Amino acid sequence: MKTRAAILVAQRRPLELAEIELPSKLERGQVLVRVLYSGLCGSQLGEIDGVKGPDPYLPHLLGHEGSGVVEGIGPGVRHVKKGDEVVLHWRPGAGIEAATPRYRWGARRINAGRVTTFNERTIVSENRLTKVPKGVPLELAWLFGCAVTTGFGIVENNAKLQRGQSLLVFGVGGVGLSVVQAAALAGAKPIVGLDLHKPKLELARKLGSTYVFDARSADLRRKLARIFPRGADVVVECTGRVQVIEQAYELTAPQGRTVLVGVPPVGQKASLYTLPLHFGKVLTGSHGGEARPAEDIPRQAALSRSGRLKLEPLVTDRFQLDQINEAIAAVRSGRVAGRAVIEMIP
Ligand SMILES: [Zn+2]
Repeated sequence: MKTRAAILVAQRRPLELAEIELPSKLERGQVLVRVLYSGLCGSQLGEIDGVKGPDPYLPHLLGHEGSGVVEGIGPGVRHVKKGDEVVLHWRPGAGIEAATPRYRWGARRINAGRVTTFNERTIVSENRLTKVPKGVPLELAWLFGCAVTTGFGIVENNAKLQRGQSLLVFGVGGVGLSVVQAAALAGAKPIVGLDLHKPKLELARKLGSTYVFDARSADLRRKLARIFPRGADVVVECTGRVQVIEQAYELTAPQGRTVLVGVPPVGQKASLYTLPLHFGKVLTGSHGGEARPAEDIPRQAALSRSGRLKLEPLVTDRFQLDQINEAIAAVRSGRVAGRAVIEMIP
């Protein structure tokens, strides 16, 4: 069986679109999924740009949030069956952690992780799939693969945000917007969103930010000092820029928590005055909000059914698979206010 796929052949190069060959049979715990929607997030840009250094897996497939339909299951798979609508996610959920699939592109081997979504048909590990809860359309369910679950996880698991606490978010893209929305639902106040891009700020306001500011505005420090005289209880850093990480830490209240979401390029180091860490300030990194998809997705789906969690405004840009490099360029430029989706409707 063949599938169309966008392949990362070399770092800092456009993805190559090609027909690749799927393995002839599914191994234990593997599931064949027809991908219908795939998100595109900062992690893929990081992989393409090589922010973590040289990539030993090239050439390989990409993408870690999607939705689609199960077309076949390998031995041992219990949590999904043929015909099920599923969310594809990168944090492990229920079921078997399967071996990674090996695709072929002519004579070349193509590597892939336990989930990839920039390919129309994909072999996914059972534990990277969760059935789409009732009442959530496939065209929005992919947001539970990373953006929404990560945002909620940051607020609940990393920030441990309490009702009435104040929140400052640096970077209100896909994850930052989900942080804003999750924090608003958790009763944070005030919520301040910062970004360089106006459409993102407007969206952040719509989804629950009390204030939004252009991060370049001249009197930003004064404005933030007025809103947070002792610093913010929680500061979430989504940009991965070293200077912003330093600023985020400094703007955190003495007993507050700084949560790092963005990752700077390998070799870049932040400089921090560490004394406050001995007196109650907490600095922590988030790994996908430590989300637990099997429990989190049904819970957040219920919030979306009741209208409290809004998914539709997060999807602001639509592309086809053969436009993937344009989609990547759009996300990189900051033009994409929320999340870009790759639609693969057959
Ligand atoms: Zn992601």
